Amino acid sequence: MSANIQGSAGPFFIKGVIELIPPRISPDKLKLIREENENLPLDYIEKLATPILADLTAWANSVVYSQYNGKLTWEIPLSESANASAVTQLSDPMNPIIRINLGMLREIYRDAFVFPLISHMIASDNSTVKDLNQTFKNLSFTFKSGVPHVHSSQYTELFKLLKPMYDKNRAEKLTDDMLASRFLMFELMIVWLFCHELGHLLQRHYLLQVVSGGGDIVSVNEAQEDVALHSKDTDENFFLKSQAREILADLEGVSFAVTYMVRKNLFSMPSIYMLLCAQEIMFHRFSVIYPDNFDIPDLKHPAPIIRSEFVQAYSTHLISDTLVQRKLAATKESITIPMLYLSVRSSLMSGLFWANRYEIFDDNNRPTFLRLSDEQYHEPKLSYLKTMAYWVDEQIDQIKPNHLCNPNFIGYFQGLNLFKQPETSSTD
Ligand SMILES: [Zn+2]
Repeated sequence: MSANIQGSAGPFFIKGVIELIPPRISPDKLKLIREENENLPLDYIEKLATPILADLTAWANSVVYSQYNGKLTWEIPLSESANASAVTQLSDPMNPIIRINLGMLREIYRDAFVFPLISHMIASDNSTVKDLNQTFKNLSFTFKSGVPHVHSSQYTELFKLLKPMYDKNRAEKLTDDMLASRFLMFELMIVWLFCHELGHLLQRHYLLQVVSGGGDIVSVNEAQEDVALHSKDTDENFFLKSQAREILADLEGVSFAVTYMVRKNLFSMPSIYMLLCAQEIMFHRFSVIYPDNFDIPDLKHPAPIIRSEFVQAYSTHLISDTLVQRKLAATKESITIPMLYLSVRSSLMSGLFWANRYEIFDDNNRPTFLRLSDEQYHEPKLSYLKTMAYWVDEQIDQIKPNHLCNPNFIGYFQGLNLFKQPETSSTD
């Protein structure tokens, strides 16, 4: 680590360890983030996450694994890295484990804690929110505040439980809406991450990976530092297939997250907005190691902007159809514009949140997510999306006969035909 390969950000010293910081991340901001760790109570975070993970696991067992005489379990390893994984023992595949590191839960807690505050700041200090609302003619679905109004019927179980404590001792100038949003984001970010891992397991991605040295454990990790040991030397499309499977886990994760929200009576506008924001922030976190372009990288996970495009397009359809199905909206067309507002607003606020918290802005004071939406990137982005759409289909052919749930999300997803243009070839 003697050479400074990361450009202007340079190596960063923390507790005597030299660490390389990705070029877009501000060392000064990162230093402040690290200082916050002193005030993030790990025991408390683990206690908050535990009932959510226990509930999700019990649900997956009752709906799926009990049918196979199996049992899913979960673990929170005491590891600093912001990672999660789905672990399968090939000799005992119906008893898998979902691991979410305490380091990942800490980042989720941190984001959920700060997002309503930064959103409030953005909404109060400049015209960003006002201008966006104006674009949508200030119609009734727009909101001026940083976070939406959360009716008490929309509070998470945890927030209901803890609200009296906050009411007694509210040191910060936090409104009920900000606190409720904080709890919604914390819960929904964990739900989506867990459900992504569950997607890997139910789609049985372990069958499509070759384990080196005849080992018995297949672990699908979310952190990129995990070196791809599997079949990259024997399959020239290894990375494309692996990236397609990540997208499929993302999409099934969205489906399960929506099921969770319905099950918990949280399926309404504030929760939908917080879910969209939670997903976007997670993708910003994963983005830091990717270059500022749409070249397809030799990595197991696709560029997070590509994941985000699939997830947003799929979420918008699924949420709209579920709203109609549950008679919360008259027709899909009637909620196209409100859903577009939530989608645009969540991308904007999550991007600004991430940039404010972590990034160095460019000379024109623009954060990465805005730079990458410039016209010069439209074509390469579309090309990446179409390539992924092709490989997603190819992987579905492998996954469909082995999926542990039937019916599952695949039929619905295929009916949407996302990012496909029949007149052109999807790949070359
Ligand atoms: Zn994954």
